[in-house]
Amino acid sequence: MSVIQDVNPPKALPFLRSEGRPHDVGRAHGRAFGEQVAGSIKVYKAKLGKINLAWETALEIAERNIGMLRELDPALVEEMDGIAEGAEADRREIYLINIRTGLIRMVEEGTAEDHECTTAAILGEATADGHTLMAQNWDQDGACQPNTVLIEQRIEGDPALIFVTEAGILFRHGMNEHGIGAVGNALRSNRERRADRGTTSGMARRRALRCKTFADAVRMLKQTPRSHSGNHIIAGDGQGAVDIEGVPGQAYEVHPEQGIVVHSNHFLNPQAQAEVDDHGPRNHPDTLLRDCRMRDLLMAKHGRITPDHVREVLADHEGFPYSICRHPDPNSDSIGFTLVSSVIDLTARRMWTAPGPACVGTYTEYTFS
Ligand SMILES: [Zn+2]
Repeated sequence: MSVIQDVNPPKALPFLRSEGRPHDVGRAHGRAFGEQVAGSIKVYKAKLGKINLAWETALEIAERNIGMLRELDPALVEEMDGIAEGAEADRREIYLINIRTGLIRMVEEGTAEDHECTTAAILGEATADGHTLMAQNWDQDGACQPNTVLIEQRIEGDPALIFVTEAGILFRHGMNEHGIGAVGNALRSNRERRADRGTTSGMARRRALRCKTFADAVRMLKQTPRSHSGNHIIAGDGQGAVDIEGVPGQAYEVHPEQGIVVHSNHFLNPQAQAEVDDHGPRNHPDTLLRDCRMRDLLMAKHGRITPDHVREVLADHEGFPYSICRHPDPNSDSIGFTLVSSVIDLTARRMWTAPGPACVGTYTEYTFS
């Protein structure tokens, strides 16, 4: 595997272990990562400025939107209030950065979010030891990397979680102690502009990981109302995997073939392809290469796939710099790269995460304490 040193990532993500009620874990998050929370707010303030959405207007929209979430899932709102208290931030700013994807898509579908990702779930029939594995390269604006953190969180009455997120935000990808994992990708379609009628992808995945079984997690993810298009893979140790392509008001499924399901940033479900105007390949044609390439590389070792092999796949440079291991493009104003790369062994309850790009990242192992 080749290494390309155009980004100098930190050795590991800042890490927090927390427990208590939702407000307690939120406050611990805000206290531990106050500087990074301020960084997240700054990044999205600049992004909204670029699309001419006034900060005060956005704060008002965020506050109204949270009224709906408070009815649907009050614990998530309590946790966000805790984050605001711990980080000494305006609560509305924390709400705003949590709903920012839906918010940005209300006013613009262009390139304000340079947000890609390549993901996979690999079932026991395809792995060397029968374990269920997941993979995620999270590609985003490089300005977000210093604000990205890893949390082991135990909320009373809920399964313990290990997850990656941007500081101030509730969830991006991770697993729970029952061996349920959730990873995700951006999708863009003609079905956006519903920030006031649902939740973001991160919140939907976080709700799914409250469940103890794969079936319940899938049901929860599909039932959670969506404010924008987004893709999710949910997998359970020894229980299966499914990809869910969500748009506001509807969810389409993509099932594993020969024990492998892979996704990038375009719709794969045939019904979705017929019904939805998919903006993904138009804006980012590299998505068409990344999912095929990852599937080919995994299939080449079908039945012998290990976490090490998955890491090699995540560092692949076919189509560079718009490769599975995404690098900055020096010839464009696109500033995205793979900010975080994760391999999850749901059976062993282990997650290895590296600040990216994957080819130069140092993977740290995280397990439940
Ligand atoms: Zn690379």
